[in-house]
Amino acid sequence: MQAIVVNQRGAARLRGGHVWVYRSDLVPSSEAAPGALVEVRDDRGKRLGSALYSSASQIAIRLLSGDEITEDSLPGLLRARIASAVEFRRRTAPDTDSYRVIFSEADLLPGLVVDKYNDVVTIQMVTQAFDRDDLRQTVLESLVEHFPDASLVERVDAHIRKLEALPARDSQILRGERTSTIFTLNGVRFHFDGLSGQKTGAFLDQRENYAAAARYAHGEVLDVFTYQGGFALHLARVCQRVAAVDSSRPALEVAEQNEQLNRDQHRSGEIEWIEANAFDLLKDYATAGRQYDTIVLDPPAFAKTKRAITTALRGYKELNLRALKMLRPGGILVSCSCSFHVSEAEFLEMLGSAAADVGRVVRVLEKRGAAQDHPVLLNLPETAYLKCVICEVLT
Ligand code: SAH
Repeated sequence: MQAIVVNQRGAARLRGGHVWVYRSDLVPSSEAAPGALVEVRDDRGKRLGSALYSSASQIAIRLLSGDEITEDSLPGLLRARIASAVEFRRRTAPDTDSYRVIFSEADLLPGLVVDKYNDVVTIQMVTQAFDRDDLRQTVLESLVEHFPDASLVERVDAHIRKLEALPARDSQILRGERTSTIFTLNGVRFHFDGLSGQKTGAFLDQRENYAAAARYAHGEVLDVFTYQGGFALHLARVCQRVAAVDSSRPALEVAEQNEQLNRDQHRSGEIEWIEANAFDLLKDYATAGRQYDTIVLDPPAFAKTKRAITTALRGYKELNLRALKMLRPGGILVSCSCSFHVSEAEFLEMLGSAAADVGRVVRVLEKRGAAQDHPVLLNLPETAYLKCVICEVLT
């Protein structure tokens, strides 16, 4: 078995319970074949476990186990972990046809992400190791066993394949015939298409937050960064009026099609889909003195790196400040952040400072994270990326 030697910082990271070691924390000259199963040692030769190696990514190894694994035992280990990931969802996501089946490190399967959208299961194999023919085969066979009636679609992110120095590959259907379907979250129906140029999907991690938001939302709603209508479609069932904003026209087109699927259940009139830059729109609306009873903010990850935190917090604050300004007393703010680099504490502090700046008194109703099918591992902070804070503006 090939061995990889990590320096003291890398060893400390693994001993601290993390599973990644960056290339800069390998001892120079420590190398293995792309995607190899490797034994990890510290610089004194002490064994730290078995890992999957990437020759290209900044994340050079992803630990699979503190125990020794061999090429012979690897497929069995993967099958067992896939089985327990599936079983975990049976317990934590029993009432939905759509959920994340496997979430990479959080399911001890680093590099493998599997989502289920009703009868279409999508697979992303994002590391050199999971791109190996033998491991792909193991994964596919397992998934067919667990989801015998589903179509399997491989979704490829060209950028990630480049980072892993893997040859380009198109998204493709691996089994069955369906690549598109209609799926349901909390009784709300959505279009899914895993292959067409106009890809559709969902932020499955928000499933439980959609339901939570609907428990508090009322009156006139503004859903900012709506994508294909996730929050807006849920809130249209319980609120009088819903407007939703996104800068992506294709996303809004799917949102409108999703609206058609759910129209009969809407208490609101037609949803107003607005194509705009959220920052400009919130500024204009706030300046014009518009008011709402419920505002949802679910922006893309502003802080993609540690260094970007300050700028990201400024962005979050600007959005939240304007939203708080426009909420009527008794109004509800649902404010999300999917930047793992911004901690929950920093996010709450930002919210507090925004509230103080606009002179609003705000009560925190719920501090939420991703749905349970996106599990969080202690010692792996990257798995706790999503924050969703639901607040009530008192005065
Ligand atoms: N709330 C959505 C997910 C939002 S993802 C859901 O529950 O499904 C983030 C969205 O922000 C994307 O749809 C993207 O098109 C949009 N976006 C990114 N930058 C934007 C901007 N400056 N103004 C408006 N929308 C933006």
